[in-house]
Amino acid sequence: MVHAHADEDVPDIPVVCPDCDTRTKVPIPEVENAVARQNEQLHDGEAVAAVDVNGRSVIVG
Ligand SMILES: [Zn+2]
Repeated sequence: MVHAHADEDVPDIPVVCPDCDTRTKVPIPEVENAVARQNEQLHDGEAVAAVDVNGRSVIVG
C-alpha cells in the first residue's frame, strides 16, 4: 500500500481580500488567524478579507 496523498491531510484554503487584490493559500488551522490579521492590520478590523470556498467568499472570525 502506498499513500500517495499523505501530505494532503491538511488542505490549504484560499484567503482572498478584494481590497488588497490578494489571494493567499493557508493551511486550515491558520485560516482564521490569517483573515483576522489581514483585517486588523490593513482594514482597521473591518471584515474585508474572506475565505474562498468553492468560489464563494465566506467571512470568518
Ligand atoms: Zn486586505
